[in-house]
Amino acid sequence: MTALKLPDTFPPLPDFPAGEVWLAGAGPGDPRLLTVLALHALSAADDIVHDALVDKRVLAMARAGTTLIPAGKRGGRPSPHQRDINEVLIERARLGRRVLRLKGGDPFVFGRGWDEAAALTAAGIRFRVIPGITSGLAAAALAGIPATTRDTNHAIVLAAGHRAEEGGSTADWEALARLGQPIVLYMPMSQLAEVASSLQKGGLSGATPAALIQSATLPGEKVVETTLGSLVADATKSGIGSPAILVIGAIAALRKQLLLSLVGWK
Ligand code: SAH
Repeated sequence: MTALKLPDTFPPLPDFPAGEVWLAGAGPGDPRLLTVLALHALSAADDIVHDALVDKRVLAMARAGTTLIPAGKRGGRPSPHQRDINEVLIERARLGRRVLRLKGGDPFVFGRGWDEAAALTAAGIRFRVIPGITSGLAAAALAGIPATTRDTNHAIVLAAGHRAEEGGSTADWEALARLGQPIVLYMPMSQLAEVASSLQKGGLSGATPAALIQSATLPGEKVVETTLGSLVADATKSGIGSPAILVIGAIAALRKQLLLSLVGWK
């Protein structure tokens, strides 16, 4: 155990004024990947409106007496409408509460953070944004997959694999394939077959390396190495499920080189 002590030179942590909303990312799961600001917010908030993906061990760091309000949107389960979540944030802030809106990963990466920030702005409520470590990049890094290397790629695509909801559009997979850059796919499970075949139609070879990472930093963490052509079969065989990140491209094969020395996430 190391006692973490912030030096005197550390910038002062901001006050959490009553009636303000802090829109924060909680990272991929393990509480040790919270930012210092998110940790500070957890200890200062009156109300915490949190997603289903925010780990219990993170919420356990809230101070005694904090009201925890689940607002999880999770595929397949009934979840509150975005409008209702916005309303809760606005109502609580108007009651003079210090409201922490805690989301998995980063609040502005496939997290509807924008919708909430825009609703707060329209309601005249002050808010702060605290970025978090996004699960796509964390899951890859912890599995030994670098987001970029000088030899493999000069760009990386972050895309969402789930079916478009509420009038949004799905990604043009064939166009993404033609970029020839690695793709990190959030929420990949419901459209795995469709994505794999469209990417191949767009020109990616069936031999393109791929890795599926389930529950990065969480107790059920699992990594499956495969190829685009075998993705669906290997995903089924391994029984991998949500939450998962899919990495497609040359970077996915690089972990093999590191596995002898890479220390697992504990
Ligand atoms: N704002 C979040 C993403 C929200 S969408 C972020 O920046 O990470 C929810 C999706 O994130 C899940 O379906 C899954 O694809 C991914 N995800 C979140 N936590 C994860 C984890 N610990 N391991 C793997 N994938 C995760």
